[in-house]
Amino acid sequence: MRSTLRPAIRARILLSSRAHQYTPSRRHLLTLAIETSCDDTSVAILEKHDGKLDGKLGTPSARLHFHEKITANTALYRGIHPLVALESHQTNLARLVDRALRSLPDADHAAVGHPARCVPALADRKDGTRAGIVWKQKPDFVSVTRGPGMRSSLATGLDTAKGLAVAWQVPLVAVNHMQAHALTPRLVDALEWAATTTAEGTGGGDAGARPAFPFLSVLVSGGHTLLLESRGLAEHKILASTKDIAIGDCLDKVARAVLPAEVLASAETTMYGALLEAFAFPDAEYAYTPPKSKGEELSARKTAYLWSVKPPLSESPYGAKAHAMEFSFSGLVTSAERFMAFKSDPLTGRTTKEPRVPAEIGIEERRTLAREVMRVAFEHLASRVVLALSQASANTGASQPIKTLVVSGGVASNKFLRHLLPAFLAARGYEGMEILTPPPSLCTDNATMIAWAGMEMFEAGWTSELECLALRKWSLDPGAEDGGILGVGGWVA
Ligand code: AMP
Ligand code: ZN
Repeated sequence: MRSTLRPAIRARILLSSRAHQYTPSRRHLLTLAIETSCDDTSVAILEKHDGKLDGKLGTPSARLHFHEKITANTALYRGIHPLVALESHQTNLARLVDRALRSLPDADHAAVGHPARCVPALADRKDGTRAGIVWKQKPDFVSVTRGPGMRSSLATGLDTAKGLAVAWQVPLVAVNHMQAHALTPRLVDALEWAATTTAEGTGGGDAGARPAFPFLSVLVSGGHTLLLESRGLAEHKILASTKDIAIGDCLDKVARAVLPAEVLASAETTMYGALLEAFAFPDAEYAYTPPKSKGEELSARKTAYLWSVKPPLSESPYGAKAHAMEFSFSGLVTSAERFMAFKSDPLTGRTTKEPRVPAEIGIEERRTLAREVMRVAFEHLASRVVLALSQASANTGASQPIKTLVVSGGVASNKFLRHLLPAFLAARGYEGMEILTPPPSLCTDNATMIAWAGMEMFEAGWTSELECLALRKWSLDPGAEDGGILGVGGWVA
């Protein structure tokens, strides 16, 4: 059968040392993906159709056959515990892969028993016991997170993925976790396209994957806060990053300081940020007015209590830091902890050394503090997006060269953030900005985004060496010291 890969890509695959094993001949690709970078063990099976019709570029569509995740319960430690996370991966990953195999699409009749085209799985009986072998389509390659993350956790997933790739004699694609977060809206678009079109391969004109590059990305997670200019699949220029802690870490810590003890005790995971949001906005109703100017943005808003939350980087000579392309969230944690621990001076609003009795701090004050911290943290994010947009306009002369903003990562599931961002951007003259936020299940860590990143890298001609090792740190920016996504060793092109 004729290969439908673009000629340049096909040529690159053919040049690779292992290419002859796997030149894909179908118009669709199938991958099994594994994500174990932190405390989530996740496995997915994704099928991607290139959408080509008569050789023309079309809108890609994707179908998810399996997606499950198990989160390590580290609530006892009030945060992520590397050993507990590792044990959770070791306990759960093999079982998840086993379940996933049963969700692979059935093999074509003609392919049954053909080792190059199908793999065996044991079917389930209704009573829970395992019946005989069923033949499933063999994945074209195995996708896995290589980094950044906790090395031991990553290695569990990577080693399992290598084992599957060797057993099935298919390539391995070991991807960058943050790249996967940034590409997630393209995955969502492909999944939605598949859901809204009846026949596969209907083509979508000259569309390609959406959003098209370039776009801005705000990646907000437990370990990262990045503002990127995503210029291409493996080219994500870092415009701003945090100089201290990540925004997710900040919200988790603030939640531990502000939430009533019984709410904290009810937590089943360490996603305290989600708990903070539910506590702050139980009805998901927001009375939010965006600041109309930089000056307004930098001045602390008065509350019904004595304290007020100051925006990060707002106090520097001549406001220099207020225009710096960087984030800072540790000050918000210190402020929230201080407001909860010490009384404020009625005249100055400053915290004194007189301790407060936690039981005397009412729900409304706690809720106001939770709301204020989120507002200030999210406005801080939005302010750097505005800076990036205005700098981009100044550089190119165009009024708005970048029209799409992707917001991804665990914190992007926050509905108040989704409400605040467009309002803030509109108040600063960027009302036309398209803001794409994946559904919460694809915002937090998941293997489906790893499958998609694997698909895009594989289609661009990249696979990974079986020798490749887990990477604790791995930048997205080609200009970074490690050379970014493609700068590290271990790729086969
Ligand atoms: P990730 O590292 O991408 O898996 O994201 C995990 C981080 O996202 C943790 O710090 C969570 O507390 C945070 N998070 C998840 N859901 C929410 C939410 N709804 N609001 C704020 N933070 C959240
Ligand atoms: Zn993540």
